[in-house]
Amino acid sequence: MTPTSEIFGSHVLDPAKMKKRLPKATFHALKNAIEKGGKLEINDADVIAQTIMEWAISEGVTHYTHWFHPMTGLTAQKHDAFFGFDSASKPIDRFSGSQLIQSEPDASSFPSGGMRSTFEARGYTAWDPSSPVFIFVNGKVPVLCIPSVFFSYTGQALDKKTPLLRSVKALDKAASNAVELLTGKRVKVNATVGCEQEYFLVDRRYFEARPDLVMAGRTVIGCRPAKGQQMEDHYFGSIKDRVLAFMQDVETRLYNLGVPCKTRHNEVAPHQFETAPVFETANPAADHNQVTMEVIKKVAREHDLAALLHEKPFAGVNGSGKHLNWSMQTSDGDNLLEPGKEPHRNLIFLYFLTAVVNAIYKWGDLLRSTIANAGNDHRLGANEAPPAIMSVFLGSHVSEILDKIEAAETFSEQTVASIDLGLSELPDIAVDPTDRNRTSPFAFTGNKFEFRALGSNQSISIPSAVLNAAVAGSLNEMNAELEKLSTRDEKSLFKLLRPYIKENKAIRFEGNNYSEDWTREAEARGLSNLKSTPEALAVWEKEDVRRFIQEIGLMNEAEMDARYAVNLEHYAKIIDIEASLMLRLVEKYVLPPSFRYQAKIAESIRGLSRECGKGSGDGLTASLRSQRGYLHEISQQVGQLIEGRSQLETRLAQVEAIENEKEKAWACARDLVPLMAELRSHCDRLESRIEAKEWRLPGYHELLFIM
Ligand code: ADP
Ligand code: MG
Repeated sequence: MTPTSEIFGSHVLDPAKMKKRLPKATFHALKNAIEKGGKLEINDADVIAQTIMEWAISEGVTHYTHWFHPMTGLTAQKHDAFFGFDSASKPIDRFSGSQLIQSEPDASSFPSGGMRSTFEARGYTAWDPSSPVFIFVNGKVPVLCIPSVFFSYTGQALDKKTPLLRSVKALDKAASNAVELLTGKRVKVNATVGCEQEYFLVDRRYFEARPDLVMAGRTVIGCRPAKGQQMEDHYFGSIKDRVLAFMQDVETRLYNLGVPCKTRHNEVAPHQFETAPVFETANPAADHNQVTMEVIKKVAREHDLAALLHEKPFAGVNGSGKHLNWSMQTSDGDNLLEPGKEPHRNLIFLYFLTAVVNAIYKWGDLLRSTIANAGNDHRLGANEAPPAIMSVFLGSHVSEILDKIEAAETFSEQTVASIDLGLSELPDIAVDPTDRNRTSPFAFTGNKFEFRALGSNQSISIPSAVLNAAVAGSLNEMNAELEKLSTRDEKSLFKLLRPYIKENKAIRFEGNNYSEDWTREAEARGLSNLKSTPEALAVWEKEDVRRFIQEIGLMNEAEMDARYAVNLEHYAKIIDIEASLMLRLVEKYVLPPSFRYQAKIAESIRGLSRECGKGSGDGLTASLRSQRGYLHEISQQVGQLIEGRSQLETRLAQVEAIENEKEKAWACARDLVPLMAELRSHCDRLESRIEAKEWRLPGYHELLFIM
């Protein structure tokens, strides 16, 4: 087998390959565009486009597409052929600079939150030269993908990438200023991101027999199996051969695409798995996670499996999340959150750490809103994922340091001794495994933070963008004070940090985030507990949030409104789809076997009762009573099912008639979600009782244990 290092990036035309293929001056112009965001002149773009096309054709490509992330979170593409005719009507392949740089897809059906009225349905995609072009193979068909931003006729961002790119800029500006003020050195700073992707795999034949999995990505009904994850025998267990074969195919495809996959393992729930890459800078990391999700789904199909990326495909078993590991790195390769051997003396570390904690303290609700969606509502707070309350875990070691700075205590040598395992690649202070609080939504894990509340299915772009922006804002505020200091020594710096540490203490929590005590304490601390998507999204209406987002340059008014509207609408649509699906499933799959089962029991009782009438003795009469009781229970459940069905149907029709998107989303969360839970409970109870051969939907047993 070819070593990974040799196939890595073979489907990507990265700057190193471009350098070999392009004339010096053109490459210089491209480099300038990549590194400084400079504009590409059209003649340079023409040369670059020609080079890209030749490379693509040599790899068997016939079509190209601008590849972008609309606000729905999926990636979108519209394919165009290189093929055309020249002036003498001779067939040729061509690809011009202007085609590379910009294209105008028919954008009217992408969500725009009302930003583009339909009569002016023009949206543009533009190449983001900082992400190299790549070839994505669909089955046997390779297509050239040009990573792009997507914006409206009036120049407003309609995608997820643009805000991320803006946030990277804002963070670079703020963080590089901080580094310069602290060290006198001028560097560039980028966010580093590595995200752990969780997913489920189920056998394709079972997947296809479940309309809810096919249409909604999750089981809207389904009774939990006798064996769930109680045995804890799946996590890090040995991987089934079939799954391993799938994983290897996924990885090969991803290596070709330059995605640096690193780890793979079983997750907590049966049939649940995880993959994580080596971290990269924020923009490629977001592209690569998007690619990873697509490849996982495609390859699963090739292996007669279905990959479920939904946050909660199965009730009663662990859901899937995506941990966003995040830090900041200078152009010299230094991690600004690396505590080193003497964290209490590491002024850069303490300054940046405080800025991050402060960012979460100030903009935690905004960050919470970036992970709000219908799927994630099933996880957050449900005793498996971190709760909907934002807090920061630092670990005892770092906490102590901050406490001492706050109390203006001096450090004795003993308190600061760090644990040195002699393994230089391990962070110095994260060696105590008890220091890793798995319940925290936002935890410091040695030399990076881990934002753990993301849903498995979502794009990481907006959570990363908001995190970058929040930290940038925090740094700007601190930098303004830092600038004024005449001496920037330990003493004056601690003095600067002290009020921040004091104020943002409310967001720090080292205990068990799943406990009820914490919910109460968080409330007393004034922290929000925004449980549903519409509640969480409401921060986009807050004046201070809106001012901040604009000031830091993340989005303008229209873009914020659009995003808020799109997210509300998307949420309501999903709940609507799930509710409608549930009604169908009840009618087509749950009621018929329920009636048959009921009739069967009634028939049996009628026979028994005839026997009793013949005077067959007291024994039978007593048994007849219990059997009638059982029939009674079943028929009561069928009755409740019918009742619940009609309640949901009536309310769904009313909710669908609501025109205001915000009202509709709130009605979904307030009314439909509880009605669906109620209806589901009747379905699931019947499923657990009705004889197996009558029940046509594959159950959790097949989905989670057979592969
Ligand atoms: P765990 O399961 O213990 O959290 P994993 O190895 O599964 O650890 O995932 C850790 C992730 O964190 C990886 O994707 C890794 O690349 C990423 N990571 C490590 N260091 C950094 C950093 N400085 N910045 C961003 N991400 C990082
Ligand atoms: Mg992790």
